Amino acid sequence: MTSIRTAVITGSTSGIGLGIARTLASDGCNVVLNSFTDRKEDHDLASQLESEHGIKAIYLPADMSRAEECRALIGKAAAEFGTVDILVNNAGIQHVAPVEEFPADKWDAIIAINLSSAFHTIAAAVPLMKTAGWGRVVNIASAHGLTASPYKSAYVSAKHGVVGLTKTVALEFAEARIAATANAICPGYVLTPLVENQIEDQMKAHKMGRAEVVEKIMLARQPTREFATVGQIGGIVRFLCSPAADQITGTSISVDGGWTAM
Ligand code: NAD
Repeated sequence: MTSIRTAVITGSTSGIGLGIARTLASDGCNVVLNSFTDRKEDHDLASQLESEHGIKAIYLPADMSRAEECRALIGKAAAEFGTVDILVNNAGIQHVAPVEEFPADKWDAIIAINLSSAFHTIAAAVPLMKTAGWGRVVNIASAHGLTASPYKSAYVSAKHGVVGLTKTVALEFAEARIAATANAICPGYVLTPLVENQIEDQMKAHKMGRAEVVEKIMLARQPTREFATVGQIGGIVRFLCSPAADQITGTSISVDGGWTAM
């Protein structure tokens, strides 16, 4: 990277978000970590990134289900670092149920955290990027932003929405003639602590070993039968923030082992 950038990554205390934060910190970016909690270990994660990578890192609690907290997150990050150059919308939750039984409060929470939060953080960050004349918005969507599965109505709707939001923001950046891009990453299954727990649950439910659960249940729709890793997702974010990706905007990059090729 050419100069010290500031990156805000929502939902970055674990899994993909933390992996992206580690990658950007290792590239010399200052990093804002976020989740909805305010524990010592959250702030310790930021201190750890600082000592490992010699960058500045802070943890800012903000609940991505609340519009005003999404916008305040960007304001506080800019107050601390002067601007926000890179915005990674990663916070997300899941709930699985048939559509006729899907709890309305779960629908509302998934739409708020997985989709509306990205709208609010982008709305707050775009003026800063326009002022700076450079910016990167990377939205962590999903293979479910491009295709559907049963029982995931809210998640699939939110992630399709994220892909549409990404395209719109990209066109608005282009109209503004600034060196800013907006793209989505669409992972299939990524091996995160969340997915590790699902593997253990499925092993108990199906009385299968780990390898059989991974191949026959978890990765049934992922043709390579291999998980993506958080490091690989971080690598795609790194690429999208590099000059090689200056003309990549408004698109989705699938990291799904061939899922959406079928
Ligand atoms: P994770 O549960 O490990 O991480 C989610 C993060 O979001 C955590 O830091 C959590 O604290 C935070 N978060 C949850 N609710 C929040 C809220 N209200 N406000 C602020 N932060 C909140 O999950 P993950 O697997 O790393 O998933 C990260 C993103 O990647 C999600 O958007 C998910 O939909 C997407 N994704 C994951 C996979 C996968 O296989 N793991 C696949 C495709 C897409």
